[in-house]
Amino acid sequence: TELYLNGAFVPPESAHIPVMDRGFLFGDGVYEVIPSYGGYFLGLEPHLDRLEASLTAMRLDNPLTRDEWRAVLQRLIGEPPAPDQSVYLQVTRGVAPERDHLCPEGVRPTVLAFAKPIKPRAAAIAEQGVACITRPDIRWLRGEIKSISLAAAVLMRREAADEDALETIMHRDGWVTEGAVSNVFVVAAEALMTPPKSQLLLSGITRELALILAREHGLDFVEQPVALDTLRAADEIWLSSSTREVLPVTQLDGAPVGDGHPGPLWQRMNAIYQDYKARVREG
Ligand code: PLP
Repeated sequence: TELYLNGAFVPPESAHIPVMDRGFLFGDGVYEVIPSYGGYFLGLEPHLDRLEASLTAMRLDNPLTRDEWRAVLQRLIGEPPAPDQSVYLQVTRGVAPERDHLCPEGVRPTVLAFAKPIKPRAAAIAEQGVACITRPDIRWLRGEIKSISLAAAVLMRREAADEDALETIMHRDGWVTEGAVSNVFVVAAEALMTPPKSQLLLSGITRELALILAREHGLDFVEQPVALDTLRAADEIWLSSSTREVLPVTQLDGAPVGDGHPGPLWQRMNAIYQDYKARVREG
């Protein structure tokens, strides 16, 4: 299967990036991961909106028009009915003549995109949920930018794996921000809550979709700061991300969350989300 690099569709083995690419040297770029089901994207426009916002924040011009992006991404996943795939896309500031933090004028961005199968979720996840650990949020203060500089996320996922956990939930000054690669929801005192959007966390497309679906189905929720203590005492904790959907967390730092089983509100949200996905797959 071909990938897209700077205007051409090429086999992966013949796709090469010069070592002076600023993505390679500085992590100077942004990315998106967009899921598709049966050949139809879920959340294509919100993802492309967020790409635009990340590019603007990084003072990069969008190298492709909306129509060009749509055409490239659709070609990568194929026509419906196609297997379930996510598309990874990234834009770096490009290849400069020398390694200098200050980029000269006239450097053209490097644009890369490729599709990858979405693994069906293991049945054990709905039955047992997943384990998480907590760690201080050691990242920079611009978490709303979907930057390819992911050193902290790499470390956090490693630490989680070392503890046989799937994800690390991060906190700053006693407040939950998000997971290393996901957003966080908490059910406590009968209320469903998630930290409000801010520069400290990525505005997840799945987070937003879950809130829209919750509202449509009459589930109350609040976007409000979530204290680490609230997280620790929660009846339910969920993670959301484009490729992992909405996951129930049943263990936190080795202790059970609630009764240690996926909670009733998660069951409800998962059913709603799966139903939405099925409709995406129908086109
Ligand atoms: N937060 C971070 C730091 C992420 O990397 C991701 C996605 O990978 C998310 C949240 C979830 O975002 P989305 O629902 O748009 O996939």
